[in-house]
Amino acid sequence: MQILDGKKLSQKIKSQIKSQTKELKEKYNIVPGLAVVLVGDDPASLTYVKMKEKACKEVGFYSIVHHMPESISQQEIEETIKMMNQNPNIDGILVQLPLPSHIDTTKILELINPTKDVDGFHPYNFGRLMQGLDTFAPCTPLGVIELLKEYRIDPKGMDVCVVGASNIVGKPMAALLLNANATVDICHIYTKDLQSHTKKADMVVVGVGKPNLIRADMVKEGVILIDIGINRLPDGKLVGDADFEAISQKASYITPVPGGVGPMTIAMLLANTIKAARQRIGS
Ligand code: NAD
Repeated sequence: MQILDGKKLSQKIKSQIKSQTKELKEKYNIVPGLAVVLVGDDPASLTYVKMKEKACKEVGFYSIVHHMPESISQQEIEETIKMMNQNPNIDGILVQLPLPSHIDTTKILELINPTKDVDGFHPYNFGRLMQGLDTFAPCTPLGVIELLKEYRIDPKGMDVCVVGASNIVGKPMAALLLNANATVDICHIYTKDLQSHTKKADMVVVGVGKPNLIRADMVKEGVILIDIGINRLPDGKLVGDADFEAISQKASYITPVPGGVGPMTIAMLLANTIKAARQRIGS
């Protein structure tokens, strides 16, 4: 069994992005810029935004956080997005989700200029992803694909079961795997018999948010197990959606939580932002 080490790979990617950023500055005098829109004080969102800011600083990006109160109006958020769309120093715009319930999230995400949509949540980019065209793919599933590439795992021809079908994790994950020529099964909360799907899969990718959803008896010998889930247990321990200890005994490859897919997400946010910056200058 081999651990798929996302922490190590994300550090390698970050150091590559750092030297590319330096090169962009020297050759073209541009600095990739990321704007984050954060609404309210949800502790998890605050933590994620801090991590993103720190990562931007590490690689030499310009970053700005628009931190707005929970009570902010739809119109005010829209004005901020429009301003960022126009700002030539900003290559990527990210809206930290979830937004408060009085905000129309879809409308906000659709307002982001698709060329600055580094989270890949705009329907234009999602459509391009489905068509297998070059686009900004959502960072978490893109991070999974990079991790597989690093370990020379080619999904071509594999039976892959994606568990979880959200717009930001499961659906784009399935699209990326389909584009990589895997045969993809997508399961969700209404799937009748989850085990019958996971058991026959060469690779199981789970992103649900339920500890121990995937047990060792639900996967076949030699499975590749990718765990996107992040769950905080009452004792403070961070775990994924799969029973890591037991599945490690059967798996050929497995991602740990933490240290697997999580760090790859931020690395891909940086990668998408530098890609946007390059597209801006046509390099
Ligand atoms: P979500 O709540 O939007 O979607 C959950 C999905 O799981 C839904 O499609 C639902 O149908 C499915 N589901 C729920 N219960 C199920 C069950 N019993 N069996 C099968 N499917 C079931 O969540 P999300 O935003 O997609 O996030 C999923 C998980 O991934 C969370 O734990 C989240 O913290 C984690 N996540 C991790 C990263 C990362 O960087 N590693 C990024 C985003 C999300």
